[in-house]
Amino acid sequence: MSSDGKQYYIDAAKRSMQWHKDYIDKMRKCRFDTIAVHGVYSMQEALDFNQGSVIEPIYMSTSQTYRDSDEMEAALAYQIPTWCYSRIANPSMYYFEGVLALLETYGSEHTATCCATSSGISAIDSACDPFLVIDKKNPGQKMNFVATCKVYGGTFQQFAIRKDQERNIEWRKVVNSTNIEEWESLIDENTRFLYGEMPSNPGQAFFDIEKVAELARKNRIPLIIDSTVATPALMRPINWGADIVIQSVTKTMTSSGFGISGAVIAKNNLNHLKIDNDELKANFGFYLKGLPNRDNGPNISPMNAILALNDIRTLRSKIDLMSRNTMKVAEFLVKHKHVEQVDYLGLESHPLHKLAKKYLVLVDSEYDELYKEKVNRYGHLMSFRIKKGAQATRDVFDGLQRIWRATDLGRIKSVATIPSISTHSQQGEEGRKIADIPANLIRLCVGAEHPDDIIADLDQALSVLDGKKIAVSSPEYSAGGASSARLRK
Ligand SMILES: *Cc1c(COP(=O)(O)O)cnc(C)c1O
Repeated sequence: MSSDGKQYYIDAAKRSMQWHKDYIDKMRKCRFDTIAVHGVYSMQEALDFNQGSVIEPIYMSTSQTYRDSDEMEAALAYQIPTWCYSRIANPSMYYFEGVLALLETYGSEHTATCCATSSGISAIDSACDPFLVIDKKNPGQKMNFVATCKVYGGTFQQFAIRKDQERNIEWRKVVNSTNIEEWESLIDENTRFLYGEMPSNPGQAFFDIEKVAELARKNRIPLIIDSTVATPALMRPINWGADIVIQSVTKTMTSSGFGISGAVIAKNNLNHLKIDNDELKANFGFYLKGLPNRDNGPNISPMNAILALNDIRTLRSKIDLMSRNTMKVAEFLVKHKHVEQVDYLGLESHPLHKLAKKYLVLVDSEYDELYKEKVNRYGHLMSFRIKKGAQATRDVFDGLQRIWRATDLGRIKSVATIPSISTHSQQGEEGRKIADIPANLIRLCVGAEHPDDIIADLDQALSVLDGKKIAVSSPEYSAGGASSARLRK
């Protein structure tokens, strides 16, 4: 080893990191759409390192080669930026993570670092786990975390089974998350973090982030927000005081639906936290990538990173369109005789509408030719309940012909599910009761189709409750021709 040789690389890396930092600071001054389109990928980077490629290349490579042992040593000690091994880092992942970090802190002085993961659910585990470490001075102490009970079904299982039941880490459930006193009453000195999903899937639960962030700060623990349903185009929790944001990038962020991916986006400099881990506090995203996620292996693949990146470029205009469509569909359902209740934060009748109005704003709408002022948008996830009960709900669901039946959301195509028998079946009757997910609830995520066609589909599906029969015919051969004949039951 030659320390001079190593120093040469470290010095070059410093200059390079400064160049990238300056470039990112320049990007930070652009509008949301410009950041979403270009991210951190520059013309200089294209020309010098990527054969001029206009679009960020997919680096399908497990690892990077080094010029010599000095460079390798510096890289593996994280003294220079490196794509040493794609379980940890990769250029495609870097381009993806760069844009997410910028979008989640858009419009603020904050900076953040993103660690992209293979799924939203692994993002949640990655974000929470570093705070669930046994205190060596007090090893018998039982840890707890305080989290809303209205969460995505997979999150419920991770918290209830993997953490609470299997590891004896108590999940203290916030039942009414708008009640700040309830949050406060659950926190004690063994509470490791506060966690909330908002708007929640499917229940549209929503709380005052600023107030909960104040509690977190007072107790010197992080506030983690799952902001999947809102996306940074409508809400940026870090700007309201949250420390860490979760995105299931699988969903609205990448509405095309090519694959599963997630992200942890953390504010830099979490020095106010009481946890005894300076590296974690200095840069949680970088710490996560370089250490725990290196050792546990949940990070994203380069292919999925670029597929997602490509989709995010038009996030703002897509969520605007899909939110407007959802509003129209919600207004139709509210008036329908077979519908008992519609849960959508955009409806003035929703008890949390006023609070949601404070947080859910279409980013940059005031600079948009169409609007010229701040406009509220509420996303494309909603739910509705059928009056006649569980079987009637299944009948309506089975009658859908344009809206896809799938346990999915966030798509450019409208998708519906019955959560009690799908996404939220595992948490059991009791778990669904506290999360308010009855058997007559249909979750609907409205896509980018013309809303009139979605309304027409809902109308004909609801007409089965008036005794109308729906005739569906299906070809016996696929359009491709050669595949096998399918028999329908
Ligand atoms: C789907 C979802 C998740 C989990 O994300 P995956 O990408 O499916 O692992 C987490 N939170 C919310 C709100 C979700 O809708």
